[in-house]
Amino acid sequence: MLTKNTTIPVHCAQCRREFYTPLYRLLNGRGRFCGRTCYWAHKRTVRRPLADRFWEKVDKHPGRWWNGAECWYWTGIPNPKGYGRISVHGRAGHDAFAHRVAWELTYRLVPGGLWVLHHCDTPACVRPEHLFLGTAADNTADMMAKGRHVNGVAPLERRARGERHGSRTKPESTPRGEKHTAAKLTDAQVCELRRRWSAGGIQQKALAAEYSVSRGVVSEILSGKSWKHLL
Ligand SMILES: [Zn+2]
Ligand SMILES: [Zn+2]
Repeated sequence: MLTKNTTIPVHCAQCRREFYTPLYRLLNGRGRFCGRTCYWAHKRTVRRPLADRFWEKVDKHPGRWWNGAECWYWTGIPNPKGYGRISVHGRAGHDAFAHRVAWELTYRLVPGGLWVLHHCDTPACVRPEHLFLGTAADNTADMMAKGRHVNGVAPLERRARGERHGSRTKPESTPRGEKHTAAKLTDAQVCELRRRWSAGGIQQKALAAEYSVSRGVVSEILSGKSWKHLL
């Protein structure tokens, strides 16, 4: 019986040799090559020139400007920091920074040890006029001068604080009160505790013992320092 694991004889698209491959690989559009060597050999031969593959992935009107010239954004794969990547040499694991490729396609090869840096401070930008050559030290100095993140931490003046902080702009995302994973009390218990305290005749120590929390917790609830959102 034919199942998706049944192996079927096919001819390799590169070397034309016959080999067997499970049906499910063919159904997934795979299983065209007898092995990795043939796969990459094929990829190299059908691959279009780097410049063609590169410039068609560039958006020249992203609406961001530097020095009177619009940025050109790389629309292909970015790395986690937003720098574009493009595969070069047609081999696995051989990819390069898109802005570096842009520089090399436009001017000349980047001399060893030098970096391609951004005037416009936009990692995705590949417009050659927005790029310049520098050393690793230049990169750090440039980063400091533009107040970009150092070690992943934004400088004080660029951090979202006060009214701009996420807890104010998106309060529903900050777990408060009983929704907080560390909460020992429920909203109802806190209201009850405050009611009983304002009715008088009970000590904080007694309330703390009753609700199995510390005196500090009780005093913060009563002063409104914690569980503010229920006041
Ligand atoms: Zn083959
Ligand atoms: Zn730019």
